[in-house]
Amino acid sequence: MNAFSYARPTALADALRRLRSGAVALAGGTDLLGLMKDGLVRPDTLVDLTGIEGLRGWSRERGKGLRIGALTPLIELEGNPQLGQLMPILREALRDAATVQLRTMGTVGGNLLQRNRCWYFRDEGTPCWLKGGTRCFAVDGENRYHAIIGARECVMVSPSDLVPALVAYDAEISLASSRGRRHMKLADLFVAPHGRERREHALRPGELITEIRIPEAALARKGTYQKAMDRKAWSFALVSVAAAARIERGVARDVRVVLGGIAPIPWRVAAAEKGLEGSELDEAACADAAERVLAGATPLRDNGYKLTLARELVRRALRSLVAA
Ligand SMILES: Cc1cc2nc3c(=O)[nH]c(=O)nc-3n(C[C@H](O)[C@H](O)[C@H](O)COP(=O)(O)OP(=O)(O)OC[C@H]3O[C@@H](n4cnc5c(N)ncnc54)[C@H](O)[C@@H]3O)c2cc1C
Ligand code: SF4
Repeated sequence: MNAFSYARPTALADALRRLRSGAVALAGGTDLLGLMKDGLVRPDTLVDLTGIEGLRGWSRERGKGLRIGALTPLIELEGNPQLGQLMPILREALRDAATVQLRTMGTVGGNLLQRNRCWYFRDEGTPCWLKGGTRCFAVDGENRYHAIIGARECVMVSPSDLVPALVAYDAEISLASSRGRRHMKLADLFVAPHGRERREHALRPGELITEIRIPEAALARKGTYQKAMDRKAWSFALVSVAAAARIERGVARDVRVVLGGIAPIPWRVAAAEKGLEGSELDEAACADAAERVLAGATPLRDNGYKLTLARELVRRALRSLVAA
């Protein structure tokens, strides 16, 4: 690991000023420190965000939806009973994410911005395309865990469990930098690396995520998160599905289906969601939606199994929204 200086500001403005000159933000450190130890990130300065007032915790104001501070530890979203009632999908998404220790240290903002888990990417000595090299080694190499859809030059997959659940509730994020503030849909934060865009996130240099917001209307949705893993604990999703909808007199409205683990970005197909509008989410409608979500998938040599898994998880997740 390279030598670096360390600062722990207590004011957001101070942190933003330091980040302006190329420092790297540190939250729980559960991803960043691993990347530093492996020589993949070499910051001159780390700006520890955990001392900043007001970036931690959550609140709900009637009519204004749910606000979650970016520095909130994952374990707080998972364990809080009121939040469990308001948005049970958060607990479902997080209970199989990493380990209790990692969820205690790891924060919401860090989870959204964690880097991908491609083993070629994580190996310091492998100069793959995403790291500025000329080729993606996974395309013809070991690609059991890689993308089956939506990939271009890089076939890595979106690793987060929290992201599909938040996107299924139309989450928005607030960003701050020394140049000001902006807001965007969480879904727009993610980039499928291509061309000059050799990156996974659309964050600008020096920018921080300060909070995540769930609009009030989305809180009326029923949601579910389903995750397939290759062992029962401490494992990233092979495939995951967040499904949500408002169920009115037995029919579905505002349907969302968002997949993780199959594409470089959280995978959503608007036409499939529209096709379910007003449906009773019966077997035929759910199976049809699963086909539409995965239309155009092109598995690699070792990951065709993801197609079967994804179809089945989409079907199950949607059916569970109307189960008694
Ligand atoms: C063994 C292992 C298993 C795991 N399994 C899972 C899993 O199953 N599911 C899952 O979802 N995740 C899993 N993870 C990932 C884990 O959830 C993340 O490492 C964690 O959420 C990152 O949060 P952090 O606060 O520690 O981020 P950090 O490591 O501190 O930061 C991560 C990145 O985000 C940036 N950053 C952090 N906060 C902000 C902010 N507010 N604004 C701007 N930039 C910011 C940092 O600069 C850094 O680039 C696993 C990790 C490990 C090590
Ligand atoms: S999938 Fe992406 S991160 Fe992995 S080797 Fe290919 S270019 Fe690199």
